[in-house]
Amino acid sequence: MQSSEGEAFEADAVIVATDPAQAAALVPEIDAPVMRDVTTFYHAAPKSPLEEPLQILDAEGIITDTLVLTDAAPEYSADGRALISTSVLGIDADESRVRGRLEEIYGDTAGWQLIATYPIKAALPAMLPPLRLRRPVRIRRGRYVCGDHRDTGSIQGALVSGRRAAEAVLADLPG
Ligand SMILES: Cc1cc2nc3c(=O)[nH]c(=O)nc-3n(C[C@H](O)[C@H](O)[C@H](O)COP(=O)(O)OP(=O)(O)OC[C@H]3O[C@@H](n4cnc5c(N)ncnc54)[C@H](O)[C@@H]3O)c2cc1C
Repeated sequence: MQSSEGEAFEADAVIVATDPAQAAALVPEIDAPVMRDVTTFYHAAPKSPLEEPLQILDAEGIITDTLVLTDAAPEYSADGRALISTSVLGIDADESRVRGRLEEIYGDTAGWQLIATYPIKAALPAMLPPLRLRRPVRIRRGRYVCGDHRDTGSIQGALVSGRRAAEAVLADLPG
């Protein structure tokens, strides 16, 4: 069937698997969640300050998480230098402020080089208290929604919500 917005298909079940803002626009029954902006800094260092694949969560500082990517995946470096990824909440974060905190975490960073900064608007749904780890994926028979905003703000959450949506379809439309 042709419509003004392209070709239209009929289906017994539709799963909307978009980002949260699009999902809320397409499925009026759900609310658009509050989103968080994230800026990620990538530094190159002459060698790893840790030499073990650890993701550090900075509960007391300005950083959400930091890790030496090449400790987990050495092939990310072509010349043996270490690649460090550091994320903070918000856009236009001040690298010198971040660098100061990185020095407290890793020690001397004088030889580090900032190689990229990625500010990403609406990067993740906020996980506000009271934390609801599972939001409904079944709107009604035949209409479903999945994505990280239905579970936790992560690839794991997106995958789990997809499985829950698929299970809801199978329960509604057996055989
Ligand atoms: C910088 C950054 C770092 C991250 N790091 C990690 C990490 O280390 N570990 C982790 O677990 N998670 C991480 N995440 C989170 C993770 O990437 C997301 O939680 C996950 O990708 C969400 O998956 P999703 O399928 O819900 O949505 P998305 O990955 O956003 O996919 C939705 C898709 O829908 C498409 N779409 C939108 N509108 C329409 C439409 N109208 N029609 C058709 N398609 C549409 C979009 O183009 C997109 O491809 C990170 C996120 C960011 C931004």
